[in-house]
Amino acid sequence: MNSPTYVAGARLSGAQSRACTVPRGASVPSVARENCRIGEGTELTQSGKRKHIPQRTCIACRSKRPKRELVRIVRAPDGDVAVDKTGKQSGRGAYLCPTRECWHRALSEGLLSRALRVSLTEETRTCLDEYVAGF
Ligand SMILES: [Zn+2]
Repeated sequence: MNSPTYVAGARLSGAQSRACTVPRGASVPSVARENCRIGEGTELTQSGKRKHIPQRTCIACRSKRPKRELVRIVRAPDGDVAVDKTGKQSGRGAYLCPTRECWHRALSEGLLSRALRVSLTEETRTCLDEYVAGF
């Protein structure tokens, strides 16, 4: 009943972590990480266990996705709303899928201003529209 996670983890540790000879806990330079071809999104530790990946919910479609697959929009303490490309900006954040559909919904239905508790200025909307045009 509650064993599938365990079984999946055990299988992965046999098949994939053997290729990686970096000792567990060692700080791995990014070059070494690139050579270590673990499929994107799998994020396994050297022991083959699943790393904790922070999940966030898209404010438009409400689907949960790993944080780094979403775009963070942040309202800075001074009230400025901008796309937070680093994901580390301080302030109130909202997450959106990097799809036009979700962005348009968030803007047209006021979901973004509700999530950030701020009304979006024309300037901000233009900025966000320009950002989504690159998707
Ligand atoms: Zn979405």
